[in-house]
Amino acid sequence: MGFRANEVEEILSRTVEMIVDHLRRSCEADAPVSDRLDPQALHDSIDFDLPHEGVDLAALEPVIRGYLEHATRTSHPRFLNQLFSGHDIPGIIGEFVASASNTSMYTYEVAPVATLMEQELLRTMRGMVGFDEGEGILVPGGSNANMVAMLMARQRHSADSKRLGLGDTRYDAFVSDQAHYSFLMGANVLGIGTDAVIPIESDATGRMIPEKLEAAIERSRIAGRTPFFVAATAGTTVLGAFDPIAECTKIARRHGLWMHVDGAWGAPVLFSRRHRALIDGCADADSFAWDAHKLMGVPLTCTAILLRESGQLAPTCATSGTDYIYHDNPNESYDLGPLSLACGRKVDSLKLWLAWKHHGGAGYERRVDHLMELAAAARRHIDAHPHLELQAEPSYLNLCFRYAPQTDASHREVDRLNQAIRDDLADSGSALVNYALIGDRVTIRLVLPNPELTESLVTELLNEVATIGRRLEAEGAWLDDSVKTAV
Ligand SMILES: *Cc1c(COP(=O)(O)O)cnc(C)c1O
Repeated sequence: MGFRANEVEEILSRTVEMIVDHLRRSCEADAPVSDRLDPQALHDSIDFDLPHEGVDLAALEPVIRGYLEHATRTSHPRFLNQLFSGHDIPGIIGEFVASASNTSMYTYEVAPVATLMEQELLRTMRGMVGFDEGEGILVPGGSNANMVAMLMARQRHSADSKRLGLGDTRYDAFVSDQAHYSFLMGANVLGIGTDAVIPIESDATGRMIPEKLEAAIERSRIAGRTPFFVAATAGTTVLGAFDPIAECTKIARRHGLWMHVDGAWGAPVLFSRRHRALIDGCADADSFAWDAHKLMGVPLTCTAILLRESGQLAPTCATSGTDYIYHDNPNESYDLGPLSLACGRKVDSLKLWLAWKHHGGAGYERRVDHLMELAAAARRHIDAHPHLELQAEPSYLNLCFRYAPQTDASHREVDRLNQAIRDDLADSGSALVNYALIGDRVTIRLVLPNPELTESLVTELLNEVATIGRRLEAEGAWLDDSVKTAV
C-alpha cells in the first residue's frame, strides 16, 4: 500500500485537464447550457452501478468525464436560471485544497489557518455591514442563515426556550410577501409553525410596506400572540427589491423585536459606493445574512450569518455533551465550533478568502457596478422593444418581463406562451432562464449574476426571446387549453 504518488498524480492531472476543458467549453457561446437528457437516457450513458469489489483510480476517469459532459453548464453566460452563474478560479482552488487537506471547523487545533481566515472574513463583512463589534459564523446557505437568525431572536425573547421549549408562547415572525421561503423552513424547524410567518404586503416594486408591517405586529399582539422577529430582504429572489430597512428597523425596535436583514442576494451592493445606499440602515439591524455563492460567484455553499452584538451565538447554539471535542486549552477562544449548529463543518473560509484576496473589494465593486449598468441597458432594451413588456420596476439585477403577443389573448394564454418560450430556450440548450409568478401572472425572470455578461450577450438573448415568441405565436399551440403547463 502506501502513498502511490504516480497514480495519484496521474488521475489528478487527468481530472484537472477535464475540468479545464469543461470550463473552457462552458464559456463558449455556442455550447449548449444543458443537454436535457431524461433520467433514463442518462442512466444508459453512465455506469451507475456500485460494485462489491472496487475499481482502480484510472477506471474512474470515464465516469468523471461523463459527469462533466452531462453537467448543466452553470459557468455559461446563458445559465441565468439561478442567482449564481459563472465560475471563480480561486474559489475552485480553495474548494480543492480544503477537500485535499480535509478537516472540520470545530477547533483551532484541527483547522488553524481556516479558523483565522474565517474570523478575518467575518470581521471584514461585519465592518461592511456596519456592525463594529459583533460575531458571526459561516453556514451552509442563506436558508440556514435565516433560520439561525430566527433562532437567535427566539433565544433573546426567551432565554429559557433553549432548555424548556416554547411553552404556551405562540410566536409570530414578519417578512415581506416577497421574502424567501426559507423563513417558512426556519419556522418549521423552530417548532413555531409555518403559519407563524406573517407575509406583509409589498408595493408594485416588491418593497415591503412599513405601515402594513406595523399594523400586522399590532394585530398579532391583540390576538394574544407574541411577535418576535422581523426580516427585511435586501434583494428579493424574484424582483430584486430592497425593503426599506431603516423604516422596518424603527418599527421592530419600537415593538422590541429582533431585526434581521436577508442579504443573501443583495449583500454585495455593500462593495459599491454607487449602489450601497440600496441597503442603507442595515447597521442598526440585529443580524444579517450574506451568500458569497451567489453574486460573488464562490462555489456553493458559502454564507455568513453576522450579528451586531457578540456573545449570543454560543449560549444559543452550544449544548452540553461536547467535552470530548472541546478541551480547556490556551487557544480555546479561537474555537468556532460552539458558535455553530453543526458538529463536523466544512471549510468554507478558504475558497472565499482566496477569492476575496484575488478580486479585492475593488474588483467586487466593479462587478456590481458593471452588472447594474447591464441591468439598466437590458431595461432600456425591453422598454424599446415592441414585443417585450417589463412586469415590475427593477431596482437590482432582476428583470421580470414578458413577451406580449400581437394578437388578442387572455392572461392565461399569455402565461402559457411565455412559459413555452422559456421551455423552448431550455429544450434547445440555448439558455436556461427561469420564470416566476408575479401575482398570478407568469413572468420571465432575467437575472444577471455572471460577471462575464456583456450588453450584446444580454440584448441577443432578449431578441431571441422575442423571435421565439413570434414563432410560437404564429404556430398558435399556446392557444390550445390542452397544452400542459406548470401553471
Ligand atoms: C437564495 C436566497 C436565499 C436562500 O439562500 P440559499 O443559500 O439558497 O439557501 C434566501 N434569501 C434570498 C433573498 C435568496 O435570494
